[in-house]
Amino acid sequence: MFGHAQKKSDNTRYYEVLGVPKDASQDELKKAYRKAAIKNHPDKGGDPEKFKELAQAYEVLSDPEKREIYDQYGEDALKEGMGGGGGHDPFDIFQSFFGGSFGGGAGRGGRRQKRGEDVVHPLKVSLEDLYNGTSKKLSLSRNVLCSKCKGKGSKSGTSMKCSGCQGSGMKVSIRQLGPSMIQQMQQVCSDCKGTGETINDKDKCPQCKGEKVVQDKKVLEVVVEKGMQNGQRITFPGEADEAPDTITGDIVFVLQQKEHPKFKRKGDDLFVEHSLTLTEALCGFQFILTHLDGRQLLIKSSPGEVVKPGQFKAINDEGMPAHQRPFMKGKLYVHFSVDFPDSLTPEQCKALEAVLPPRPATQLTDMELDECEETTLLDVNIEEEMRRKQNQQQEAYEEDEEASGSGPRVQCAQQ
Ligand SMILES: [Zn+2]
Ligand SMILES: [Zn+2]
Repeated sequence: MFGHAQKKSDNTRYYEVLGVPKDASQDELKKAYRKAAIKNHPDKGGDPEKFKELAQAYEVLSDPEKREIYDQYGEDALKEGMGGGGGHDPFDIFQSFFGGSFGGGAGRGGRRQKRGEDVVHPLKVSLEDLYNGTSKKLSLSRNVLCSKCKGKGSKSGTSMKCSGCQGSGMKVSIRQLGPSMIQQMQQVCSDCKGTGETINDKDKCPQCKGEKVVQDKKVLEVVVEKGMQNGQRITFPGEADEAPDTITGDIVFVLQQKEHPKFKRKGDDLFVEHSLTLTEALCGFQFILTHLDGRQLLIKSSPGEVVKPGQFKAINDEGMPAHQRPFMKGKLYVHFSVDFPDSLTPEQCKALEAVLPPRPATQLTDMELDECEETTLLDVNIEEEMRRKQNQQQEAYEEDEEASGSGPRVQCAQQ
């Protein structure tokens, strides 16, 4: 649309690029640039050339001094005045305009910035930590930009174009695939590891040896808040490894709750197992449960209450605190099991029968007994037996699969 070849006296192109009249106000310029720059941002699939042009145009026209030179003498005069450098990086201009709120670019100057990788660490915590909240100090070593050379890698602050890739960072190789077909392959340049530049040995920064970054130890304080969940992420933005021309990634801690010997957590509720003797189940019980914050809870049955094996009971507001609303707590469920005695003496039976509800009134007659067959009741571990049977079934099924083997399965054709 707009030619790149510049006439000596061209002093209208910048206005055309932004689509504003020559007497546009600063406000109009701003609005025009904002709209066009968002539309043409390369991160949103825009044309990088157009984006650069917009930034150049805006940079000149938004500066009253530059605008005057441009209006009077044209583009070339400005180029000379700016040392032929052609102004600043278009992404810098964009960023200074939007304050880094666009496309995640809280950058530190420099060239077009890519985003560095996040570093993810698991962080083991106890259920007590998640109940009470805690903070953990962790020492991490990471790369930071060398302070001596400010991440340039050289004493002079300059670098040379990599000869292996002519500074592009990529090497292109062409393969002939057929008489009229070629394949073009791009690979990261191995000489400069894709940076496009090399540093003269003598010019290398003595502190980082030209690496641009140095190792640094940093202590991070991770605050685990009350009610946080297993798997929850705690993020330290911009604390990962630094690298030149890179927006530093985040350090992310992922909470991993260790198994608790007593309590299980489900959402905001806690579960605890408690076994009672038969006497306790029938005649009442009380016991002390030490909670995750060390409080001693007295848990007891109501007078006359009987607890059955497998029964649940709940205590309100003694579950986990809700994250960010720690005054809201879930329930504490107690799951009861009952330890029955393995056997009783005849005397014990007699004593029990005297107080417990009577047996069903079915006195078997001798005749009835004569007609019956004797059986023997065996002790079984039912879970074990069921598991074994399932395995047998599975094996039989697999054998069956193998036997029916190669041939395709034919189903009834549907007419
Ligand atoms: Zn290279
Ligand atoms: Zn250095």
